[in-house]
Amino acid sequence: MRKATTVVVVALVVAAFARTAAEERVDLDMFWKFRQEGIGNSKVLETLHVLTDVYGPRMTGSPNLKAAGEWAIGQMHAWGLKQGRLEPWDFNRDGWTNERLTAHIVSPVKDALVVEALGWTPGTSGAVRGSAMQMTLPQRPTRAALTAYLEPLKASVKGKMVLVGAPQQVLVTFSKPALRRDDSDVMNTLNAAPAGGPPQQQAPAPAAQPPAATPPAQPTDEQPLNNNQLQQQLNQFLVDSGALVRINDAGRDHGQIRAFNNPAYDVAKAPPTVVMRNEDYGRIWRLAADGRTVDLEFDIVNRTHPEGRTSYNVIAEIPGTDKADEVVMLGGHLDSWHAGTGATDNAIGCAIMMEAARILTATGAKPRRTVRVALWSGEEQGLLGSQAYVREHFGTVEQPKPEHAKFAGYFNVDNGTGHVRGWTVFGPPAAGTILREAVASLKDLGVMGATTTRSRQRGGTDHTSFNEAGLPGIGAIQDPIEYQTYTWHTNLDTYERIVEDDVKKTAIVVASAVYHLAMRDEPLPRFTKDEMPRRPQQQQQQPQPQPSAPAVAPTPVTR
Ligand SMILES: [Zn+2]
Repeated sequence: MRKATTVVVVALVVAAFARTAAEERVDLDMFWKFRQEGIGNSKVLETLHVLTDVYGPRMTGSPNLKAAGEWAIGQMHAWGLKQGRLEPWDFNRDGWTNERLTAHIVSPVKDALVVEALGWTPGTSGAVRGSAMQMTLPQRPTRAALTAYLEPLKASVKGKMVLVGAPQQVLVTFSKPALRRDDSDVMNTLNAAPAGGPPQQQAPAPAAQPPAATPPAQPTDEQPLNNNQLQQQLNQFLVDSGALVRINDAGRDHGQIRAFNNPAYDVAKAPPTVVMRNEDYGRIWRLAADGRTVDLEFDIVNRTHPEGRTSYNVIAEIPGTDKADEVVMLGGHLDSWHAGTGATDNAIGCAIMMEAARILTATGAKPRRTVRVALWSGEEQGLLGSQAYVREHFGTVEQPKPEHAKFAGYFNVDNGTGHVRGWTVFGPPAAGTILREAVASLKDLGVMGATTTRSRQRGGTDHTSFNEAGLPGIGAIQDPIEYQTYTWHTNLDTYERIVEDDVKKTAIVVASAVYHLAMRDEPLPRFTKDEMPRRPQQQQQQPQPQPSAPAVAPTPVTR
């Protein structure tokens, strides 16, 4: 099977080589070497194995994440990269890990339950047993309405396992979403008008330093609580009332569980909390609704890590030659959520970028510009690591640091295992044309071209930290495979969900595109001062973590 694939690839490559790029002088001889190395000697699955099986999950602030970063540096040094280092940034909250978790229904039936701990919640005092209690909260309550609802329950909550909310009805999906995108669909994306605002004519003057975080608005008794406010008030009530465990419904099909975090990021401000698969949650709810007493038992061991208040980005580079002071970057985020081992989100993005750099060193490539790999942390809490890096090294186009002028592009992969179908670069049309021509000989690997965006909106994933600063971030458009349907932030996000052929191809495409940008005479074109789109008004402040709203955009397509 693998051999046959290689033969097909080689045949298509020969066909592709018959064409040459219109304007760009692309080094097809080096591209050929990258293919040979990336198909024949790939280390991408070995890297993935270590990042997931040995160090997963890799929560921001956890010892696992730091150890994974240290391992990655050692590995990249062994491949010939230089200057490997952990660059610290202030996470400003303790790290958190779950070490042990058992959950059982013990009466009226005996069975094991499938659950995940909610991040930044405490464990139980050993194995604890209590009866299930159903709680159906009022819709969009004000603070006063929620208080009025909860207070009468104070005595009955003590010593209980509290199920918060009726189980969600998860309907059978009759038409399955496509695993791959048609070429025509990809081309529609690549041919669409660039997203983003008008040129920056009256951009507000940015502050010299990011302004201090504004405290969250205190709810008044008249306004409905937002979700974070509601969760925090409910958690405080459950702690004060002596509830044993809070149980949330995962609300997804086939046993999938997405477990994020207690919005306060403080184990003192929440009861022990689990997210339970919809099937177990529904069973317990229905048994209790019959009027039966349902007894549950949990044993949860969680740990906090004060040293995790400092988190780290992982950096390593291939020094350039005659243009070594200019930099082309490539990266993904190394941090993950904790229900799985964070394979598709985003050990694979890191493994692909490390592999692309390995391909360059293994083939003896001597990039003129410095090629720098960055594996971010804090992405899941709001792109915090890449934001800190961009702030520290580059500043913004409005208030640039010297390195801002020397920056020649940042490639990001963070949409799962599907191979790259195209690139979206923040910059003028010429930047898109250059990238398109750079990858024109790689169509047999799935990549169809490139498009541009004018948007400086932060969101989605880490390349937008660069876009926001007016720098050319380059995001991958990828085939969806099972990312949104199964693996993104779920307990199913493991090594097994990676498609080997896809990730090998992406690593080759990345190595080729990075090499091209590192070799061409001029750096990738950027917006001139007059062309530069405005920075969105709401992003003039320091980023705040988005506790319950994960930072990764739900759609895999960027424009
Ligand atoms: Zn991600």
